[in-house]
Amino acid sequence: MADKVKLAYYLSGGCGGCDMAIIDLSENLVDLLPRLDVVFWAPTVADVKYRDLEGLPDKSIDVGLFSGMIRLSEQEHMAAIMRRKCRTLIAYGACAALGGIPGMGNMHSKEEIFQTAYFDTLSTDNPDGVIPQTRCLVDGKYELTLPEFYRYVRPLQDVAEVDYFVGGCPPHHSFVARVIPDILGGSFPAPGSWITSDKAVCALCDRNPAVKGEEMKLIKTIKRTTDGPPEEGKCLLQQGYLCLGAVTQGDCGALCPKVNIPCRGCGGPVPGVKDFGLRAISAVASLLENEELVDRIPSPVKLFYRYSLPASMLGRKIK
Ligand code: SF4
Ligand code: SF4
Ligand code: SF4
Repeated sequence: MADKVKLAYYLSGGCGGCDMAIIDLSENLVDLLPRLDVVFWAPTVADVKYRDLEGLPDKSIDVGLFSGMIRLSEQEHMAAIMRRKCRTLIAYGACAALGGIPGMGNMHSKEEIFQTAYFDTLSTDNPDGVIPQTRCLVDGKYELTLPEFYRYVRPLQDVAEVDYFVGGCPPHHSFVARVIPDILGGSFPAPGSWITSDKAVCALCDRNPAVKGEEMKLIKTIKRTTDGPPEEGKCLLQQGYLCLGAVTQGDCGALCPKVNIPCRGCGGPVPGVKDFGLRAISAVASLLENEELVDRIPSPVKLFYRYSLPASMLGRKIK
């Protein structure tokens, strides 16, 4: 790599939280900036046009960070351009890597989503029943276009070849601070793998019975945090709160259990796991004391596949 690493960042279908994880590097960012040549950062940092990226020579960008999922034709188009221009393309954050929270939309049809968004919500005022069209003519002569809203959410790897994956919703800034210098130095793991510390959330959790030399017991009940606060210091799963720390990469440092909240899996699957939700179901089911407890698990798909439905074998709900 040249002295300065050419970096591009694109936010696709996401909330911008992944961008914030970079801003949260704070003083670490000041140290990194002299080593970076940021050639493209859209749409959060700079007002750019497609041609600003399209006009760059192919493979002229060292590293591309792509955050957010693919729902619109525009996002698919930008993914293809990022792939063409970047030598290394990283699916950065749960949305890009797995489909993320917006992937929960795959539990509903496009028609249901439009019905809710443009008609049913209390704040909607749409007396003419207008819904977005990909083309329309204004004053009979000005053609306006909008990107096509696809039927389903897809992770980045479904539309472009991905070199590496980073989990987290968003990736934790302390982890980003650790891995970015490696990335800038051109030090990557095997192609196609996750950039991760390779430790599960459970392995980093102070509540872990195994770490404390205690026996892992069967789960006798299913609880939600709305049922009352979990007991401090005790494994959440053992108390019946469905914590997915055993199958989740712990690059966040076991953030949620530290504050009495069960891990929901945003860090992505531990190495070797292809379908996060399936492995999470298996991990929890193996600890249930009896089958009746299964019926007490609220919204199983939204619990076990919260961040990963589009990247899973299920992919979406089929009516
Ligand atoms: S992974 Fe989370 S923080 Fe990042 S864009 Fe998606 S929803 Fe936002
Ligand atoms: S299941 Fe959750 S609370 Fe229990 S050890 Fe693992 S991360 Fe900690
Ligand atoms: S504990 Fe789990 S849900 Fe919480 S930030 Fe870490 S990986 Fe994400």
